[in-house]
Amino acid sequence: MLVVTKFGGSSLSCATQFEKVKNIVLSDPKRKIVVCSALGKRDKEDTKITDLLYILHAHLKFSVPYQDIWDMIYNRFLGVQADLNISYDIKKDLDLLKAELNKTISQDYLVSRGEYLTSKLMAAYIGYDFVDAKDLLRFNYDGKLDSELTEKNVKLAFSKSQKIVVPGFYGAYPNNSIRLLSRGGSDVTGSLLAKCLNASVYENWTDVSGILAADPRIVKNPHAIKEITYAELRELSYMGASVLHEETVFPVQELNIPINLRNTNEPDNPGTMIRNECTDESHIVTGIAGKKDFISFNIYKDHMSNQVGILRNALEVFAKYNISVEHIPSGIDSFSVVVSSANVDKIKYEVVTDLKRELDADVTIEADLALIAIVGRNMAKRSGICARIFQALGNEGINVKLLTQGSSELNIIIGVSASDYEKTLVALYESVVR
Ligand code: ADP
Ligand code: ASP
Ligand code: MG
Repeated sequence: MLVVTKFGGSSLSCATQFEKVKNIVLSDPKRKIVVCSALGKRDKEDTKITDLLYILHAHLKFSVPYQDIWDMIYNRFLGVQADLNISYDIKKDLDLLKAELNKTISQDYLVSRGEYLTSKLMAAYIGYDFVDAKDLLRFNYDGKLDSELTEKNVKLAFSKSQKIVVPGFYGAYPNNSIRLLSRGGSDVTGSLLAKCLNASVYENWTDVSGILAADPRIVKNPHAIKEITYAELRELSYMGASVLHEETVFPVQELNIPINLRNTNEPDNPGTMIRNECTDESHIVTGIAGKKDFISFNIYKDHMSNQVGILRNALEVFAKYNISVEHIPSGIDSFSVVVSSANVDKIKYEVVTDLKRELDADVTIEADLALIAIVGRNMAKRSGICARIFQALGNEGINVKLLTQGSSELNIIIGVSASDYEKTLVALYESVVR
């Protein structure tokens, strides 16, 4: 039996957190594979090492003096090493890195040093072997993971040592240059390793005692979800529950390896179990999550309902601009195409012009739209959820601009004005989630 155990930056911010991690790992011999992010924030005002490295890269690129920012990075690593008296000579590696700094240094390489150095520290501290992620996660030049080679590498590394620490967040191209994953990607590294080794559990240790039923930065003290399916989590994380990277579920889902989200600061709390099927029926709605910054293109045309192919023509316009479409709520003679503002902001008027020309229809834009997903596997069996949603939002004077339900009845998406976003989350939590 083996458990892959990933610790996020919040669990690795200082010597005290390192001590907690050591206790957790060594308290269960099944915790053989440890994945580390880079040193995270010690408090709200602090800056993550990853962010400092991105800033350092920008300084180098634009030839701005960078000594101060380098010192911050250097001192944080050295501080942890000194506080815990770790035998690894991190100063030597930091000095080597300093000598490599120049205007053209690869951003991926430089930023990956956050997880690399943190993992080397952790390996020495807990007495595990360090294995570099660049020798495990291998990508093709098109950026796609070479799954077969990765699995072969991971199995080989594990056959050589059964106690290893691997840095998260990066791998390498065929020429050995570093490729970073997207932000928060150490979650995905852990999930890939768990899959390659067919782990019994993938533990993801962070700073909250489970996936919370709503964003704790907006809703006060939301409850933790005991059990959630991969599909529900995917919906929540895609829609903004930033606790796990949205790609985390895919590798482990194939083998039905449960993900157990746990709190490093409260190790006795069982956290949240994420798996294919769940039996807990205590809540109809599992959780809510949302994002601001969507735009809706609203398309109206008389007798549209009789016009074959109009939807296809509209979608072709979005495809032409390479804009991915989030939702298409429709009426009889109208439909809307909802997309993320980031993908369309600079070209929205061109899109409107093209839509008008291709469809011979009226087109308006509704900007500053927020979308909120109400997610729950148990909703399929119950009626009356929408009534409760409308009642709660009506009581708060919130205007619902859009409502769609996925065909699996796993989620209901509502759109409100971005300025109503926080108010909507709180009202929904109180009325349908709690
Ligand atoms: P780590 O450093 O361990 O990778 P992250 O900062 O990436 O941690 O993710 C944990 C944070 O996600 C929490 O501190 C919390 O503020 C935030 N978060 C947002 N939505 C949720 C949610 N639904 N449940 C739990 N945490 C959430
Ligand atoms: N350190 C990286 C980030 O801040 C990766 C991670 O934490 O998963 O995005
Ligand atoms: Mg994270």
